Amino acid sequence: MSPSVDIPSVQRAALVSELGGPVKVVSDYPVPSPGENEVLAQVLYTGVCQSDLHTAAGTAPGADGKNITAIKLPHVGGHEGVGRIVSFGPTTSSLPHSDLKIGDLVGIRFLARVCHECEFCTSDREQHCAKATNHLHHEDGSFQEYCVLDRNYLTVLPQDVDAKAAGPALCAGVTAYKAVKNANLSNGKWLVVVGAGGGLGHFAIQYGKVAGANVIGIDTGKVKEDFVTSLGAKFVDFAKSSNLTEEIKTITAGGAHAAIVTSGSPRAFSGAVDMLRIGGTLCCIGIPPGDVHLTTPIATIIIKGLKVVGNLVGSMDETLEAVELVRNGSVKPHIEVRDFEELPKVYEMLEKGDILGRIVLQVAK
Ligand SMILES: [Zn+2]
Ligand SMILES: [Zn+2]
Repeated sequence: MSPSVDIPSVQRAALVSELGGPVKVVSDYPVPSPGENEVLAQVLYTGVCQSDLHTAAGTAPGADGKNITAIKLPHVGGHEGVGRIVSFGPTTSSLPHSDLKIGDLVGIRFLARVCHECEFCTSDREQHCAKATNHLHHEDGSFQEYCVLDRNYLTVLPQDVDAKAAGPALCAGVTAYKAVKNANLSNGKWLVVVGAGGGLGHFAIQYGKVAGANVIGIDTGKVKEDFVTSLGAKFVDFAKSSNLTEEIKTITAGGAHAAIVTSGSPRAFSGAVDMLRIGGTLCCIGIPPGDVHLTTPIATIIIKGLKVVGNLVGSMDETLEAVELVRNGSVKPHIEVRDFEELPKVYEMLEKGDILGRIVLQVAK
């Protein structure tokens, strides 16, 4: 790509004017200009995440379980984006990635900016930075053709990664990767993935297998069965099983060492606890919409010596680790590429839960 990229003044963007309202693709949204220590990226592809849907609907809960309402409007979602740098804003300090150039591949992730100084930023947990901004609530994300990014917290991707496949690794992928890390798996340990055929689930199976685990995927229907088994996991259909807990206990000779739950159903979480072995770990990812509680008896957690772990995406380092496993072919995101303007339809499909893996939108024409 030449340094003289023709940058238009307006662009296509998917706007939500009020939470709970429709998402509309317009063609006259202003192209932002990169400010001090920022870059402008042309968005090539973007994944569509469940939390985009919940945020647009106004049903995405915060840490207190209440719906997040402080969301920039119009809302422009998208946080599994892959783009190319098309221009640089003025620089005022020495910046990381001094060899960056026009055309370099960068990611548009959930996290947009962090403070770099707090206890979380300095311990590889910067996604919990209180001063952070993100591409869901505060800043326009990858559901637009051009996106401004902070050069001080830039996701510089390996330049030879497949731009279509890398996007979903930036949210679903790293979230599943971090959950597998939290599950502390090693060779031959049993991992159960609940909601195995979806975006998060299909990554959790693959990262689990990279960790050496035996993986059981729980979902329903023949299509999901074929998909899950093609990823190398054993499949259990929750709708067909007469006693899911017992079935898992039999397969694993006593219970799984860890369960990763991607489902939005509260019953799926407490059901997963029942499938765990003594000392097992429940990994909660994929925030269900609304005020959903884990209903497991405290006595169960104590007597079985269980661990309950949540993770909000992962750090920059963990993101790049998750991406590297995609780049080197160890993990293969299952993607279906559609046109950007199909986003409203993709939201409908996500709502029904009938997407295998991830749908990726082609944003740049
Ligand atoms: Zn996401
Ligand atoms: Zn911080």
